[in-house]
Amino acid sequence: MGAGIQRKEEAMKCVICKNGTTNPGRVTVTLQRGRSTIIIREVPAEVCENCGEYYLGEEATARVLAQAEAAAAKGTELEMTPYAA
Ligand SMILES: [Zn+2]
Repeated sequence: MGAGIQRKEEAMKCVICKNGTTNPGRVTVTLQRGRSTIIIREVPAEVCENCGEYYLGEEATARVLAQAEAAAAKGTELEMTPYAA
């Protein structure tokens, strides 16, 4: 690899199993906000090929949290929603 060359999307080493590396994929994220449970499907993430642990990027984390807050604000007990890209 040449010095100064940086790949933008580099595979991460999984911090959970310390064995696998991550690949881009889609995951289902479940969040609790008080009495509300929010399930968000098809969230883009880096997924460990070994143990299945997932890592959300900054943007996905922000969007998922915003969707969870919106559902909790409505007082929904259980909401299943697709990821709003
Ligand atoms: Zn792993």
